[in-house]
Amino acid sequence: MALISWQELLLLFLVILPCGLVFYRALRWITSVKKPDQPQKEVITSTRETIKEIVKIRCRYCGKLYTEQKDKCPYCDGGR
Ligand SMILES: [Zn+2]
Repeated sequence: MALISWQELLLLFLVILPCGLVFYRALRWITSVKKPDQPQKEVITSTRETIKEIVKIRCRYCGKLYTEQKDKCPYCDGGR
């Protein structure tokens, strides 16, 4: 009957604990690295869409293009 002494148990514990911690941190790092990638892409596409919307606005009275930030057409003062 070969029982493990408390020194060996302590050594085993000291070896397993940092390994588990490193593994846990690596897992968290991988998940934290992968997660921000998707929202950033969404933000980029949404900003591009808003830019397109700003450019696209066309006056219904004179047909000229103007920015969305303006409440009415700067060319003929016609409302949206
Ligand atoms: Zn106009």
